[in-house]
Amino acid sequence: MSETIPGAKWHQQLHWRIAIAMALGVIAGLIGGEPFADAVGWLGTLFIKLLKMIIVPLVVTSIVTGVASVGAGAGLGRLFGKTMGYYMLTSAFACIVGLVMVNMIQPGVGADLGAAETEEMPNLTVIQSPVDLILDIVPENVFAAAAEAKMLAIIFFSIVLGITISTLQRTHREPLLGFFEAAFETMMRLTGGIIRLVAPIGVFALIAKLMGTTGLGAFKALGLYALMLVAGLTVHLLVTLPLILRFLGGINPIRHFRNMVQPIVMAFSTSSSGATLPVTIDAVENKVGASNRVTSFVLPMGATVNMDGTALYECAGVMFIAQVLGVQLGIEQQLLVVFTALLASIGAAAVPSAGLVVIFIVLEAVNLTGPQVELIVGAMLAVDRPLDMYRTVINVFSDSCGAAIIAKSEGEEGIDEEVPAA
Ligand code: ASP
Repeated sequence: MSETIPGAKWHQQLHWRIAIAMALGVIAGLIGGEPFADAVGWLGTLFIKLLKMIIVPLVVTSIVTGVASVGAGAGLGRLFGKTMGYYMLTSAFACIVGLVMVNMIQPGVGADLGAAETEEMPNLTVIQSPVDLILDIVPENVFAAAAEAKMLAIIFFSIVLGITISTLQRTHREPLLGFFEAAFETMMRLTGGIIRLVAPIGVFALIAKLMGTTGLGAFKALGLYALMLVAGLTVHLLVTLPLILRFLGGINPIRHFRNMVQPIVMAFSTSSSGATLPVTIDAVENKVGASNRVTSFVLPMGATVNMDGTALYECAGVMFIAQVLGVQLGIEQQLLVVFTALLASIGAAAVPSAGLVVIFIVLEAVNLTGPQVELIVGAMLAVDRPLDMYRTVINVFSDSCGAAIIAKSEGEEGIDEEVPAA
């Protein structure tokens, strides 16, 4: 994307505009309160809708071109193995960080949630079991899956479509591939246009709405809980993932951070890895320097199944609830929490609050059910949005680290080596 205009003044650069929009959003939201939040909220919704509008065609065209260029066979199997291996590894690390934090800080012990406000759960579908998860991957009707933005199903169909195209005779393969490549370029250009024109206003509205409606009051009762989560997420973002980047990929983490500023800001303001995906693909291809062959496979899959922030949150959140209720979970049960948290993070949709909804899967696994549990989850929901924003940043950042590491392991050169002038 051409938003980094060489020689332009700093305030003309898009990432500064977005940062300023964020700061103004905080101030305007705190001063204007709910009336202001209500007045500008629609601009934020509009921005998210514009990003979501691109997701399905972008994911389909991106995966089909990526997979068809790798072709069926060993290359694809290797890429798939590396992608899944990386995702499982980092999510497991995230779970461990979450468990260590919650056991160390113990925010739930003696917490008085009587003063906390509770909220209604959003109405999202929850995948109940690993078998459900597998059945959900294969769509009955591709168009229905696309209409409902069922990402796992769309990814599955696009992969098999890409493989099939790669086996066609040249006369059929080339025009079809040309079509998908051109469509992919078009979607990327559309993404660039939306980001350039609408992102600063959208981000301003989203942050102002958050500050105007949630404010800081809700944090009093759940302050230590929120602090513990922020600490855990920060450790994963600033310690675990940089170490993985450095030692698994030989990549300079600071450069990677600098190249990823825009997706990080987008993830933070939209709370949705899905809505951020177009921006993530753009940054990993054009700034990090990974090939379309790798990004088109690793990133859409990552946005859907790799959620380190969510996995960390599931573990720490469930342990917090157990602490509030005075229930002791032994090591075996904590391992069960880790296992189901991994599944829950895979099953969670890449949309706001999905993490909190799937927490019930993990709670059920360790028999924490009933009205008291629902009350605590309701109280957690009251402070969830800012935490969700932060865990979405971790989710997206882990995807981009994966893409960079895998691109390098596939022999690609120049990964995170040049930082465009800021
Ligand atoms: N909002 C997160 C995401 O889109 C999911 C979650 O709620 O944890 O990545």
